[in-house]
Amino acid sequence: MNKIAKRAWFTMVLAGVLVIGMLGVIARYFTQADEWVSFLSSPYIYRGENSPDRGTVVDRDGTLLLDLTHGRQYAESETLRKAMLHLLGDSQGYIAPYLLDEYGDEMLGFDRVNGAYHAGQDSGTLKMTLSADVQRAALNALGGQKGTVGVYNYKTGEILCMVSGPTYDPLDVPDVAADPDRYDGVYVNRFMHAVYAPGSTFKLVTAAAALSEIDGITSRTFHCEGSAQVGSETVICNGVHGDVTFAQALAKSCNVAFAELAAELGPETLTRYVEKIGITDSLSFDGLETKRGHFDVSDATTYEAAWAGVGQYTDQINPCQFMVFMGAIANGGTAAMPYLVEEVTFGDSEKYSAKTQMTDRLLSRDAADALAEMMHYAVVNTYGEWYFSGLYAGAKSGTAERGEGLAANALFAGFVQDPDYPLAFVVVVEGGGAGSSACTPIVQQVLNACIVAMD
Ligand SMILES: [Zn+2]
Repeated sequence: MNKIAKRAWFTMVLAGVLVIGMLGVIARYFTQADEWVSFLSSPYIYRGENSPDRGTVVDRDGTLLLDLTHGRQYAESETLRKAMLHLLGDSQGYIAPYLLDEYGDEMLGFDRVNGAYHAGQDSGTLKMTLSADVQRAALNALGGQKGTVGVYNYKTGEILCMVSGPTYDPLDVPDVAADPDRYDGVYVNRFMHAVYAPGSTFKLVTAAAALSEIDGITSRTFHCEGSAQVGSETVICNGVHGDVTFAQALAKSCNVAFAELAAELGPETLTRYVEKIGITDSLSFDGLETKRGHFDVSDATTYEAAWAGVGQYTDQINPCQFMVFMGAIANGGTAAMPYLVEEVTFGDSEKYSAKTQMTDRLLSRDAADALAEMMHYAVVNTYGEWYFSGLYAGAKSGTAERGEGLAANALFAGFVQDPDYPLAFVVVVEGGGAGSSACTPIVQQVLNACIVAMD
């Protein structure tokens, strides 16, 4: 009797272990199977004898970017291959093919019920929102300089342009270590994963806060004599601007006016708007996450906090996030969340389709509209309307000093307000010097290419 009871008890324990183990396997199957199937070194899918057709990656018009039908075949155009490096990876695996990692299972036709049963019978197509022609135009316009160019449709979220320099031909991976200067940070997708000192582009954040917080700000006059005492130190301006309105202060990028405004707003208010606008947040889409910007005036002196409101001190922005901020200014305070992948199909069936999602409200409608008008004033009076393809545009430049012996980083961000071309853009040229002169010719070429791509 005692023996039988012991055996029964032992059998129950064994049965319990089995059930727990099975539940574990089932849970892992449903949570991780797709990751495992599309894992790059999965022997069954990618390295097997009957390696299935993993499909193709095409741009918004169907131009081939990457063909994985027989091994790995990149686009014919060398410029296009270079422009796509940071999203599609290289032949040696130094840069991961991020989008293939994210959508690998959809491209293989995998689902949890049927597994990869259909793999090999049909093939997948991943269609991007990017335009091959715009990518090429942007990389050519960047002209071998380090930096990034991004453009997206702030109504839908489609990213038309995302290039990062330096880059290289994925078919001809260079010896990066042999030329560290030329290939400095080459593995980084600067648009998504870099942050930059914003320089005067940050005045847009201070302006947004001032438009919401300070009554009568649009009719105020500032006085600039080339410098001003703020706290214990002196803020130096880029010129002697005399009496200027708020819009003129932005168009002339007057440090005196904006340092005074930042001091008036105070560090807490400024920080609140920085957070609301999302400067210190990360955006996620298509398996990518942007690097967070930086703004911390918690231990800053009055002078340092004011200097932070001018875009100096320890401020940092991420280009993608800042582009979305531009979209929100143009679009009444909110903008579409950006994305890169339009759809994934396998044979005749749709495996993934992008949906437009809006950001939270980054700024009030009134503040957005007033700021958009001020940025348009800057285009008309400072930058020159001819750079914007004859479209109604707004913009702000920035020049961020990098320390002794190094040319400043040039930044330029803005938007087009046109029902057919609702575009927000950001350009960074590292070591480009003055923001507007380094970046406006790039904006011009890229916007022209976007307009052709959208027609
Ligand atoms: Zn000034």
